[in-house]
Amino acid sequence: MVISCPVCSGSLHPESSGSVMWECEDCGSIINHSQAAKRAIGKLSDVVKRKKVGMIGVDAGLCWVGDPCYIHPDLDEKKPSLPKEFGQTWSEFCDILWKKSPPDKPTVAQFNYDLGHKGLGVCVSTGYGDGTYPVYIEMIKDEQWGERIKSLTVVFIEDEEKSSKLMSKIANKKKG
Ligand SMILES: [Zn+2]
Repeated sequence: MVISCPVCSGSLHPESSGSVMWECEDCGSIINHSQAAKRAIGKLSDVVKRKKVGMIGVDAGLCWVGDPCYIHPDLDEKKPSLPKEFGQTWSEFCDILWKKSPPDKPTVAQFNYDLGHKGLGVCVSTGYGDGTYPVYIEMIKDEQWGERIKSLTVVFIEDEEKSSKLMSKIANKKKG
């Protein structure tokens, strides 16, 4: 039985052999194939495990995860300012970031509220650097609250990309 992607009608291929989770070649959604087969016109949330919701562009090799309400200065305040750990300029931000996470290693940095506790945001470096990266969500259907977003994933390095970069590294080593 051929089942096309319920999100975009693209073609599905299995995540791994024998897997019930199939990935759409066109939109990157992960579909529960056996569930989709059982109920040909089931509810989307029952069969769509992962859904591509957009792309993020990266120009500084960094990705920020946090609530956007902390980034905008509160204009109701007399002297609006950004949280201390943001710094007031980009270069101040970078100084703070490199203190938290040395630039010679992959960046992983927790940013704190002005009172000193965790929660302002998290900053990480993005795979091999700048580019445009796909964003996926996982949905659940809660009996009481209805559809909810369970998780968000940004993919910086596709599995094939990783193996092809590794292969070319090995090939270059052999040459040298
Ligand atoms: Zn699709």
